[in-house]
Amino acid sequence: MIETDAVVVGAGPVGLFQVFQLGLLEIRTQVVDSLPYPGGQCIELYPDKPIYDIPGVPCCTGRQLVANLLRQLEPFAPTIHLNQLVSAVEKQADGRFLLATSSGQQFLTKTIIIAAGVGGFQARRLNLEGLDRFDGSSLFYRVEQAASFAGKNVVIVGGDDTALQWASHFAVAGPDKAKSVTLIHRRDVFQATPERVAKIHALRDAGALRLMVGQVTGFEAKNEQQSDKLTAAVVTDVDGQLQTVRLDALMVFFGLSPKLGPIASWGLDMERKQLRVDTEKFSTNVSGIFAVGDINTYPGKKKLILSGFHESALAAYAAAEIVFPDRKTLLQYTTTSPRLHQLLGVGG
Ligand code: FAD
Repeated sequence: MIETDAVVVGAGPVGLFQVFQLGLLEIRTQVVDSLPYPGGQCIELYPDKPIYDIPGVPCCTGRQLVANLLRQLEPFAPTIHLNQLVSAVEKQADGRFLLATSSGQQFLTKTIIIAAGVGGFQARRLNLEGLDRFDGSSLFYRVEQAASFAGKNVVIVGGDDTALQWASHFAVAGPDKAKSVTLIHRRDVFQATPERVAKIHALRDAGALRLMVGQVTGFEAKNEQQSDKLTAAVVTDVDGQLQTVRLDALMVFFGLSPKLGPIASWGLDMERKQLRVDTEKFSTNVSGIFAVGDINTYPGKKKLILSGFHESALAAYAAAEIVFPDRKTLLQYTTTSPRLHQLLGVGG
């Protein structure tokens, strides 16, 4: 059980900036995210695409923005609990909240700031009866250790940037090169950048990978060392013919779908899957629970990163009223405040 002043639910760009704003007000914070890394949509959906509308930053990629946000909050060294979903929130008799994650971590906190964006991202799955039991052994929805697929027969299903990127990665010479790579997509048109598509076609022409148009409609498996492993994907091609493709690893990249998940059951006012907030404190209908970034809604809301940054500054001041009820929190400038310099570890 961790006792803290604030828990930020979601480590997307807005959640990360929220931590910085809370830190400036000396509010101790813990962060939780269901993804294995911080950055939310910026990292999950467009890490290498340029963003042009961050104030004062003419251009940066999603990845660069997140790296800078992480650097900015370093002075406050918050613990970021990754790979776990905040699943339950319960108000306690003393006004604090008991919060539990899917990994069993518990927090007792004075305030909660929900920065959960469009919800927790979950991979869209290949729905074949009985397939789920191979998850992590020979069926993968994300690549965590590319080197573990070196020298294997890899079958990749999907037609987006991620599918093509991994197909190229395992097909080209290098430490992670697979024994064979087959890329299966239901159409012969991909939803990926022209450069990635060109690379895939070049690799196919060079014999480094096989392209198949069709859908995986079945599988074959065997029991090895007391665990079941996939040995083949059964593909129905465009002519309706069944083809068997031998494999050691089946990777499925059908994109990610955000799931609002447990937040919907926390008794908060919602409007079309978003949390209703006021625009003075960005508080939900439950005192002590705030919502910032893409997850909230109010008249005139624009789902932009800069809107979330503004919201998190005001939510931090409102949270300070709860965390320090006997203290008046005054506005201070980072440029001139000796106290803020001390907190940030800068200046004399
Ligand atoms: P998110 O980035 O969605 O992060 C929320 C985080 O919360 C996620 O990491 C999620 O895993 C986590 N989470 C959710 N529920 C839970 C839970 N119960 N427990 C634990 N963790 C949870 N905006 C701009 O301003 N400029 C642009 O140029 C721009 N370009 C974009 C391009 C694309 C392709 C897309 C898709 C969006 C773009 N946006 C842009 C929008 C911008 O990415 C979002 O406004 C921004 O990511 C919102 O940040 P957030 O932190 O509120 O939410």
